[in-house]
Amino acid sequence: MTRALALLMVLACATPAYAAERWVSLQPLGEMDPALVDAASAAISARFAVRVRREPARALPPEAWNPSRKRWRAEKILEAIAREHYEPAWKTVAITAAEIGTTRGEVPDRRVDGLAEVGGAICVISTWSDERLSETSEVLHSRVERLVVHELGHVLGLAHCPSPGCVMRDGRSRVPPAQGSDFCDRCRRAAGPLLREQASGSRPQAPGQAVPGVRSPEADAGSPKPAGHL
Ligand SMILES: [Zn+2]
Ligand SMILES: [Zn+2]
Repeated sequence: MTRALALLMVLACATPAYAAERWVSLQPLGEMDPALVDAASAAISARFAVRVRREPARALPPEAWNPSRKRWRAEKILEAIAREHYEPAWKTVAITAAEIGTTRGEVPDRRVDGLAEVGGAICVISTWSDERLSETSEVLHSRVERLVVHELGHVLGLAHCPSPGCVMRDGRSRVPPAQGSDFCDRCRRAAGPLLREQASGSRPQAPGQAVPGVRSPEADAGSPKPAGHL
């Protein structure tokens, strides 16, 4: 046995047992309704074959504040999280009730519900729009569940999907919450063993073609302004 192999074996023995499992660090940022963090945690556990570890809440990174729009820059939140050392977390999902925005196309700062590194390690979701659009806590929780599953789906490499009802469909906020947070068959196949089996037989139909994921941040459009738009 080579010395390198022996060293590897020693290192493997020294690794904590939980590192053998894929676990997701759920990081509340700023003041947050604990029930929404619960909903996000439950949704991740139900849909993905991972363990979830809830981190203690921490402040939003000051450098992410955008004084001109009075909201937080989503990509700067991702950068701040990337600088932190969450090892051995496999992926990190940040969740905040604060309003977040990022640059989309020609719009220098547009409100978004989430931003994810597609095929990367980190995403952030904001419940700001959902809290203003949902008439009941049941609807709110359903929207937050769909949002967190959608963004973590991006992190796992899934791009937007044209399939009606699929949780990876763009324009998530305009999808009735009753449609739940299921993946269509094609997205399910793309994610492979990272997803848990769905109990329901009413899976969304797969689209005609797959959209390959790319490793780049992907923003999810914020809901229309709650006042006077819907
Ligand atoms: Zn799909
Ligand atoms: Zn998306």
